[in-house]
Amino acid sequence: MTLSRSGDGQSGSARAHFVLVPMMAQGHTIPMTDMACLLAEHGAQVSFITTPVNAARLEGFAAEVEAAGLAVQLVELHFPSVEFGLPDGCENLDMIQSKNVFFNFMKACAMLHEPLMAYLREQQRSPPSCIISDMAHWWTGDIARELGIPRLTFSGFCGFSSLVRYIIFHNNVLEHVTDDNELITIPGFPTPLELTKAKLPGGTLCIPGMEQIREKMFEEELRCDGEITNSFKELETLYIESYEQITRKKVWTIGPMCLCHRNSNRTAARGNKASMDEAQCLQWLDSRKPGSVIFVSFGSLACTTPQQLVELGLGLEASKKPFVWVIKAGAKLPEVEEWLADGFEERVKDRGLIIRGWAPQLMILQHQAVGGFVTHCGWNSTIEGICAGVPMITWPHFGEQFLNEKLLVDVLQIGMEVGVKGATQWGSENQEVMVTRDAVETAVNTLMGEGEATEELRMRAEDCAIKARRAFDEEGSSYNNVRLLIQEMGNKTNACG
Ligand code: UDP
Repeated sequence: MTLSRSGDGQSGSARAHFVLVPMMAQGHTIPMTDMACLLAEHGAQVSFITTPVNAARLEGFAAEVEAAGLAVQLVELHFPSVEFGLPDGCENLDMIQSKNVFFNFMKACAMLHEPLMAYLREQQRSPPSCIISDMAHWWTGDIARELGIPRLTFSGFCGFSSLVRYIIFHNNVLEHVTDDNELITIPGFPTPLELTKAKLPGGTLCIPGMEQIREKMFEEELRCDGEITNSFKELETLYIESYEQITRKKVWTIGPMCLCHRNSNRTAARGNKASMDEAQCLQWLDSRKPGSVIFVSFGSLACTTPQQLVELGLGLEASKKPFVWVIKAGAKLPEVEEWLADGFEERVKDRGLIIRGWAPQLMILQHQAVGGFVTHCGWNSTIEGICAGVPMITWPHFGEQFLNEKLLVDVLQIGMEVGVKGATQWGSENQEVMVTRDAVETAVNTLMGEGEATEELRMRAEDCAIKARRAFDEEGSSYNNVRLLIQEMGNKTNACG
């Protein structure tokens, strides 16, 4: 096991040992790798639970924690994919071919219970103090109770979206709503909020077995000992406090966790090995004027339709602005590949960088050449955009992304909508173009232009980034929360031991 380089705050007491159990999906695993670094940098010990295929993606992370001397141990457990009717090696949500096997995937996850328990029982020299579990891993509740240790949950949502989700599901708000386009007022929300059913989490997505899992997740959510949130108090105080009140749980805001990379060169290998040479990418960005490039990326799971991708590309071309566009088409969408090769790439080669596959997103966002971000509003991308201090064009696809859009556009006022009307669901057959090339061109030219409204957007975005750094740096609210969390869990260990 690697040793921590700093034992601060731990003198005279057993070091707090956190067991991190991430969901195997990039948007859930990546923030937990950041969390592992953060906890270890503050002197805690971390066991990071993973599976062989996911561990291979985390090689860069493992090498980095090793090099930094952080007390983070990657624990590989066998994932029973074949036993549950999944292809051999299907160990991540981004490898699932159809939503119909989602339930099998979740059942296979629950089978990690036994090997995880066996591993934790072996840790007699340094018993676990606390489990931080992805909310979707409801089965870790039994483990925590059996071991008599706290279980904190991590949903990957911000406070604003967590609060909406909680209200909707615990009050069955959508139960009798039949029209997807009916505007629904979120009851008990601290500020006026209206969205259509189509834009609300759980609104239209129909995944076989989801209801059953959701029930178990919520049952365990009510029993958990608190929540960890990748946000910071000053960003959304009202919503975080309201969420604490409604759930009667402590919410530990310890973010933006991606800032743990701000003084290191660890950003490139985050989540997976980048498909493009990072030096080449940096060279391209270095050759651009500060703030001139628009970055376009829709995360790891979004299923943008081929027609929509083409329309987006044509909009970017028409805007005449320099851009970096991350496309995950490849073998999945051969028609997009064909279209790219059939003239588009050639036409934009002087000002467009296309990255196929995994991009070093954080590294790109932090580059001074980037002046705007077209995002699908996954929370990680959103908070990374906030840290980069760039205004955003919001293009949500599904889940809580429409809520994050509201936070960016209406509350923080650092984003502008491209105008998405409904969800593009995972596995959806819908081939419609929802955002036209003209809408893309207008949005990009407005965001990257010099109008007064855009200048204000930019100033507010920069202000948010400053607040984020303040919260994260020494004596900031998130910094203090990490220390308090470690202290509290360490004390529990000592009391038990
Ligand atoms: N990401 C990346 N390279 C990519 C795509 C995504 O590094 O090519 C990272 C991104 O920086 C973020 C995470 O993957 O940390 C995606 O999480 P998010 O919540 O934004 O979206 P999701 O993939 O869950 O929809």
